[in-house]
Amino acid sequence: MRTIRLHDTLSGELKELRPREGRKVGIYACGPTVYGRIHVGNARPYVVFSLLARFLAHEGYEPTLVANITDINDKIYDAARPAGRRSDELAAEMTAHYIADTERLGLGRPDHEPQATLMVEEIVALIGTLIERGHAYAVDGDVYFRVRTLPRYGELSHRDIDQMDQGEGVEGAALKEDPLDFALWKAQKPIEDTAWEAPWGRGRPGWHIECSAMAEATLGVPFEIHGGGNDLTFPHHENEAAQTLAARGRPLAQIWMHNGMLQMGAEKMAKSVGNILGLAEVLDEAGRDALVWFFCEGHYRQPIAFSAERLEDAGRRVERIRDIGRRLVSGSSPDAFAGHRDAFFDALAADYNTPRALAAMADWIREANGADGPVGAEHLREMLGVLGLDNLLDADEGAPDEVVELARRRTAARAERDFAEADRLRDELRARGWDVRDGATGHELVPIGP
Ligand SMILES: [Zn+2]
Repeated sequence: MRTIRLHDTLSGELKELRPREGRKVGIYACGPTVYGRIHVGNARPYVVFSLLARFLAHEGYEPTLVANITDINDKIYDAARPAGRRSDELAAEMTAHYIADTERLGLGRPDHEPQATLMVEEIVALIGTLIERGHAYAVDGDVYFRVRTLPRYGELSHRDIDQMDQGEGVEGAALKEDPLDFALWKAQKPIEDTAWEAPWGRGRPGWHIECSAMAEATLGVPFEIHGGGNDLTFPHHENEAAQTLAARGRPLAQIWMHNGMLQMGAEKMAKSVGNILGLAEVLDEAGRDALVWFFCEGHYRQPIAFSAERLEDAGRRVERIRDIGRRLVSGSSPDAFAGHRDAFFDALAADYNTPRALAAMADWIREANGADGPVGAEHLREMLGVLGLDNLLDADEGAPDEVVELARRRTAARAERDFAEADRLRDELRARGWDVRDGATGHELVPIGP
């Protein structure tokens, strides 16, 4: 079993993963606020933490991945109102889109996907505890967290307490004891069409307390890994950490793991910037194989510049893997190649370094290409499997060799823009009972049904 080390934002250092109990690893990754279709930038944490869970399972751990759905939030009211829609209907519709869009990534689903609307009871109970312990106060139906009661506040985001802005603007400013305080509960406003009962009045929870309650309800505290985009470190994660520490006297998580942003040009990709590419559009264009590969090409902590060229490039790399897969045979790989396979997994154990892992995979492939005689695919399948890409080795599963060869010739003809030859080969394939479908990242052979 490898020792896994991950960069922890709180300590600023690599931290060894040490489960509370046996091999169980709880991972909570902040999910989307469902006020619109998700963009390709939102897919990055989904991919990073889904693949991290796969890697941990490969290493013999028992991961539980939780990705919440924020379906109570100001942004949802703000999006529903001008559209003349009910906010709960909009949230339900966008939740369904989020599930469908991320399903297309082909990485399975998180083990739990708690929704704030279904956990209001737990959220209200947590706020109640904070009030009892003097860390929060109710005023005019709102509840605020008393930040200065927590001397360690600011340690996660490494910010000075006097240089912080909770980003709540003028809202509640007159009710707060201190401008540093942030909202745990907001009394219902006349323009808001949903509200829940609480001992301090009808209203709805703030965003930060939703996550503290959902994480604790699904994983207990302190769980092993808290993840999310690094744009959430302050105030969202700082406040999640503060709430749980204040209420329970225990930290929320052992390791805080933050992914970098996806950038368009020099700016991060976000709806507020307006440079959005929907996840569904990107998947239509490039296919999931290319997108997953694209994300793996960058270290999770670094920003990645998003461009059509880089995505096309990822598509070509994926197609090369498919090609190699066609030349491999099933079964065990030569022992002499095992060092590259081990280097691949060692790279993932050292702060989940996917670019270094891909370099080790490329070394393995180079050896395989240089080998005399057929090479067994087992190592490559194992490596691709933890990246959710082992399907690349099944591209032409079940097709006889001569059919695979015809399909390769046809793809080559298309690449050379010899469409007459490509069409002729397509007809020949059909005559043998196989249809060839062209995806953004290569072809797929499909048997023609009876
Ligand atoms: Zn969160």
